[in-house]
Amino acid sequence: MPHVKLHIPGPVEVSEKTFKAFCSPMIGHRGQAFKDLYAKIQPQLQQLLYTKQLVYISTSSAWGVMEGAVRNLVQKKVLNCMCGAFSDKWFDVSKRCGKQAEALQVDWGSPIRAEAIDAKLATGQFDALTVIHNETSTGVMSPLAEIAALKKKYPDVMFIVDAVSSMSAMPIKFDELGIDVLLAGTQKAFALPPGTAVFAASPAALAKAATAKDRGYYFDFVEFQKNAEQSMTPSTPSIGHVFALSSKLDDFFAEGLENRFARHKKTNQMTRDWAAKHGFTLFPDNGFESVTLTCVNNGAKPGGRAVDVAKLQKLTKDQGFLIDGGYGKIKGKTFRISNMGDETEATMGQLFAALDNAMKQV
Ligand SMILES: *Cc1c(COP(=O)(O)O)cnc(C)c1O
Repeated sequence: MPHVKLHIPGPVEVSEKTFKAFCSPMIGHRGQAFKDLYAKIQPQLQQLLYTKQLVYISTSSAWGVMEGAVRNLVQKKVLNCMCGAFSDKWFDVSKRCGKQAEALQVDWGSPIRAEAIDAKLATGQFDALTVIHNETSTGVMSPLAEIAALKKKYPDVMFIVDAVSSMSAMPIKFDELGIDVLLAGTQKAFALPPGTAVFAASPAALAKAATAKDRGYYFDFVEFQKNAEQSMTPSTPSIGHVFALSSKLDDFFAEGLENRFARHKKTNQMTRDWAAKHGFTLFPDNGFESVTLTCVNNGAKPGGRAVDVAKLQKLTKDQGFLIDGGYGKIKGKTFRISNMGDETEATMGQLFAALDNAMKQV
């Protein structure tokens, strides 16, 4: 198969170095070699999440932990903040777990704001809140600091945050923001192959989970904590992923987190500039655009131009790059370009050259 480089918002391109680490000789997950490996990456993960809590590794995609958070932490009723395909789905998942759930829906393209959450939480009905920091389907980043500041008024409400497509691309300070659960799937900004998620839970979340009946086993947060204290996971993890994660974390810290954050900002700005150069507008409300992907407006909203997205995608793919053609109900009316992972100004430049070529023919 010819190599088509992924510029979709996950999974993204995986480096040779990461794949090599992934293919390390297998070790037993209850042996010292695995414990040493987990103990080595634990402080790196803690630094990345700005937390003193232990960070867990789940062999699942992000949804496993998203569902797990609901099962562990919702006893009364959960408020699901919804602004796109993934956050909308979380409401559905809450109900499928048999939980009382309420939707706080805003239009796709708009962010979740603290004021709207405040009005809901003030009713006293809720003991948990789910927020997607970077809604990958719409390219909208909700203001996490603003929401975290509001949430401090409601200490008994569990603050569950999906940072699937933003974690590691920008600082998200778990302890300082007062987050109760923070999670990410590693096929997005981490640029690992799909199949694992990392997450942290606050002491309050762990205490609450311990009182939850029917929280199951595979995603039992208390089991994750007990095992992490021994540098282990509750069940056999995807050990290849743990090797790959270790290699990737070394990359992060060799580059330096600040440099990594600045690189994402820069490559994202390049993408926005590319869109503007061709007469497009962006889908997210002004000021709430993601830094890891760009959701280009292609007729979903007034303003800007619109092209045949399927054709643009194909012409770009023929040159070796895959962009995304829009997600869910805005498929074709938007398209998305990812700058997650290892992308640099130089590699993004190659993508834009291919896109420029394609634009001449759409
Ligand atoms: C990709 C994504 C998910 C779902 O991840 P899976 O790996 O498919 O479980 C959830 N939330 C966000 C914001 C995502 O981008």
